[in-house]
Amino acid sequence: MTDQEKLKAALTELQAFLGDRATDSAIHRMAYSRDWSPRYKDMTDLPDILVVPRNTEEVVQIVQVALKYELPVIPFAGGTGMGGGVVAWKGGIMVETKGMNQVLEIDPANMSVTVQAGITIWELNERLAPYGLWLPHQPESKRACTIGASIGCDNDSTFGVRYGKILDCLTNAVVVTGRGEAVRLGHRKASFSSTGYNLMHLLVAAEGTLGIVTEATLRVVTLPKTREVRAWVFRTLIDGARALERTLASGLSVESAHLNCRRRLHFYTHAFRQKYGKEPEIPDWAESILFLSFAGDEDVVEFSLQKARSILEGEFHGEWVREQEMVEGYWDSKHRLAFIPFKQKWPDSQREKKFGAADVGVPMGRLEEMYHAFLEISAKYDQQILGMTVYNESPNKVSPSISFAVFVDDSTEETVQNFYRYVREMSLKAVELEGTMSTYIGDGDRLGGFNELEHGLSFQYMKELKALFDPKNIMNPGKKFESRWIQP
Ligand SMILES: Cc1cc2nc3c(=O)[nH]c(=O)nc-3n(C[C@H](O)[C@H](O)[C@H](O)COP(=O)(O)OP(=O)(O)OC[C@H]3O[C@@H](n4cnc5c(N)ncnc54)[C@H](O)[C@@H]3O)c2cc1C
Repeated sequence: MTDQEKLKAALTELQAFLGDRATDSAIHRMAYSRDWSPRYKDMTDLPDILVVPRNTEEVVQIVQVALKYELPVIPFAGGTGMGGGVVAWKGGIMVETKGMNQVLEIDPANMSVTVQAGITIWELNERLAPYGLWLPHQPESKRACTIGASIGCDNDSTFGVRYGKILDCLTNAVVVTGRGEAVRLGHRKASFSSTGYNLMHLLVAAEGTLGIVTEATLRVVTLPKTREVRAWVFRTLIDGARALERTLASGLSVESAHLNCRRRLHFYTHAFRQKYGKEPEIPDWAESILFLSFAGDEDVVEFSLQKARSILEGEFHGEWVREQEMVEGYWDSKHRLAFIPFKQKWPDSQREKKFGAADVGVPMGRLEEMYHAFLEISAKYDQQILGMTVYNESPNKVSPSISFAVFVDDSTEETVQNFYRYVREMSLKAVELEGTMSTYIGDGDRLGGFNELEHGLSFQYMKELKALFDPKNIMNPGKKFESRWIQP
C-alpha cells in the first residue's frame, strides 16, 4: 500500500465511527499546523487527518486504526505550547482533545475531581468554584491549557511554591497507549502509593509519546478567603533568592513567588509609566524584583505581610515597591492569555516578533552564573533580550524554573535557527551547572536529539520504556528522542 492509500483507508475507517469528526480537509488541518513555538512565518506542518474524539473508547479505536496503518498520532490541546510538542512534522493523525471536556465527578468529601483530560483548567475551576474548591495548578495559559496538556508537558504553575506542579495534584490518569489499550495508572484517590511502580509519573512530561491521557483524577483544595500581592526590589539576584528562601523557612503563607531580573523589571516600570504618566519610585540600584502573594485567612495574610517585610527589608535590605498599581498590573498579566506588559512595551510584539525562551533549571546557588551566561549567549546569537523570570515550583522551596526570554525574529529560517542555537547553548550550560535543559516547555521538537547528554545511560532505559508503551513508535514521533531544530 502507498502512503496515500494508507491515509485514505485510515480516514474511511475513522469516519465509520466518528462521522464528520474525522476529516482531511485542509482548512481544518491548517488550524493544527503549529503552536506558539518560534518557527518562521510561512512555515506550516499540516497533519494528514484531524479527529475529534469525545471519550476514551473513541481514542482507543483511533489508536487501533493508527496502529494498523502505522500512522503517527499526536494529541493537541490548547496549542499554546512553546516547544513544538504538537507539531506534526512527521504527518499523521492529529487528535483534538478538547472534545473530551466533561467533569465526570466532583467529590467534595474527598477533595477530589475526576475529569476528561481535554477540559481547560479555567473551565474546571469555574465548575469547582460553587463548591468553594479550586485546582491550584495554574499556568498563565490556563484559559487555553488543558489538564491533559499540563500532564503532557509538566508546565509551571503561578502557585507552584505552595502547591507544586500537576504531579502534586494528580492521583490517577487513564492513558490510551500506543498499544491501543486504555490503562488506568496511579492510586485511585489516595495521595500517593508505595505499591508497584509509579507508572503514572511517567506520563508527566511525556508529551503524548507514551499515549494520550483521556481522564484524570486530581486533588483539589479550598479556595483561600483572601489574597495580597506585593513586591520588593534587591541589590542582586541572589539577594532576592536568599530573601525568598528565608521567607519560606519562616513558615509564612506564601502562595506564589516570582523573581525577575532588572531587564524584566523594566517591563513593569514601562507599563506603569505608560498608564499613569509618571515614573515609579524604583531605585537605580535595583537588580531584581521579587513578587510575592500571600493567601489564606485575613489575619494570617496580614501577619504574613508584616513579617515578610521585616525579613525582606530588615534582614536583606530589600525595598518595598510602593506603586501597588504596578504590582497589580503584574498580577493581572498572570491571569490573561496574553503577555500584557510586553504588549504595552512593544505593541506589535507578537505580530512583528515572537516571544521565545530557554526554560532551563539550575540549583539556587548557580543562578547568578546562569544569568551571566544568558547575557553572553543571547549576545552571541544576536537575540534581543526580554529578561529572566525565576518561577519556584516545589512547595516551600526555592526551586528555580527559569524563563530566559528573548524576542525571536521569525522572518527567515536562518533567524529562527539562530534562536534554536541560543536554546541549545543555554541548555548545555544548564546541564554543566548541575541543572536541566527544560523545566516547563518540554523537549518538543527542540531538545530530544541531545537528551542523552543530560540523562546518560538512563536515556537507554527511557527508550525501552517508550517501546513498552508504544512498540511501533506511532505516539507523537519526532519528540523526546530526536530534534528537528537542534542537532547534538
Ligand atoms: C500566553 C501564554 C502563557 C503561558 N504561560 C505558561 C505558564 O505560566 N507556565 C507554563 O509552564 N507554560 C506557559 N505557557 C506555555 C504553554 O501554555 C504551556 O506549556 C501549556 O501547558 C500548553 O498547554 P496546551 O493545552 O496549549 O498544550 P499543547 O500545546 O496543545 O500541547 C502541549 C504538549 O502536551 C501534549 N498533550 C496535549 N494533550 C495531551 C493529552 N491529553 N495526553 C498526552 N499529551 C497531551 C501535546 O502533544 C504537546 O506535546 C504559556 C503560553 C502562552 C502562550
